[in-house]
Amino acid sequence: MLDRTSSFALALIGALLLSGCDRTPSIAAEIERIRAIDNHAHPVRVVGSGEQDREFDALPVDNMEPASDPVYLRPGDTGVIAAWRALFGGPPANARAGKQRTIQEKGDGYPAWVLDQMGVDVMLANRVAMGRGIQPPRFLWVPYVDALMFPLNNSELAVKNSDRKAFFGYEEILLRRYLKEADLTALPSSLSEYLARVVTPTLERQKRGGAVAEKFEAAYLRSLDFEKVERATVERVYAQFIAKGAPADAEYKLLQDYLFRYIAAECGRLGMAVHIHTMAGAGSYFDVRGANPLFLESVLNDPTLRKTNFVMVHGGWPFTREITALLEKPNAYLDYSAQSLILPPATLAQTLREWLEFVPEKVLFGTDAYPYSDEMGWEESGWIAARRGREALAIALTTMMRDDVISRDHALELARMVLRENARKLYRLP
Ligand SMILES: [Zn+2]
Repeated sequence: MLDRTSSFALALIGALLLSGCDRTPSIAAEIERIRAIDNHAHPVRVVGSGEQDREFDALPVDNMEPASDPVYLRPGDTGVIAAWRALFGGPPANARAGKQRTIQEKGDGYPAWVLDQMGVDVMLANRVAMGRGIQPPRFLWVPYVDALMFPLNNSELAVKNSDRKAFFGYEEILLRRYLKEADLTALPSSLSEYLARVVTPTLERQKRGGAVAEKFEAAYLRSLDFEKVERATVERVYAQFIAKGAPADAEYKLLQDYLFRYIAAECGRLGMAVHIHTMAGAGSYFDVRGANPLFLESVLNDPTLRKTNFVMVHGGWPFTREITALLEKPNAYLDYSAQSLILPPATLAQTLREWLEFVPEKVLFGTDAYPYSDEMGWEESGWIAARRGREALAIALTTMMRDDVISRDHALELARMVLRENARKLYRLP
């Protein structure tokens, strides 16, 4: 039996729940209408028959040893079915022809059509090179710079496991491409020449080619612990091992650390942000601990790097509380790409709320659209992540309104900031 107090409490809870139900759709509907800037994705270019695009990632993750896939990335996931229905009119089994027809009909406009379906205005395309249909103003380039960090003999690093072996192979191919683009046939014999003739010219060329940021997926290759190292120390390491032999891991790390900070400083000079993968990554050999964003604190605290803006891509999962504290650094940003794809919206909403209650102008929307499989291409994964990412934002803002942390107007302002305005300011977009 209920006494008077508890009936009142129940009535109050009921009223709150009702007002909550009342508010949720309206906030969600407003969020739906905001044309987003997607901070991180891998769109696939339009290809001719028999042609294949392999430039959507410097380290394609399609040839790895089996791992236990997260639920949302498994075949037959309900999100995938919903994406196929929304985009191509039916589940994968029935709509493959429909998808092909759409691709044919849209031609070079197909990637921009996909953005329209996702409610995305501008997508930052993290690709080795741009291509057919993947062009400004809808797509902005974010090339890769890890290859520049590994100019020496990588055989000692590559033997650690099969993933690393494949990854260092890809990085060496990319470094040769950068050398060729710099009109060189071999690596210079001194570090100063390497910086002046390869590293800086590559960054300047990419900037001229439209790059708004440079991407490190270093967490797939080593830890994010980039120390501050004296130039003289690494000049010797470079000169000795560019000639012959493979350096010991600890010695080589010092050179990589130096190169990382050099590249970051150059990006600041050139007005490009630095994107860094901070999240547990694909593959059964990924070093989760090495991807802890707290490793980046000494980089963020380096006074000589304060002109460089760092974006911690994927928001540091599972270290989402640790990364919150880093948002106080003036040049630290994060996005929630990939989390929007693999986490249920209600789970992601808890993290989003914590960030939005702390430093909301550094939080960016993102999808990590990627050609994961035949069923889950960049179109489907992008559509799913955009939808779940918006749902998570709506839940976070609704609970903040319910708890009287923010007004409805403030909630809408935060939604616009996360989906669009924060990125627009960071990349100085019109
Ligand atoms: Zn990515």
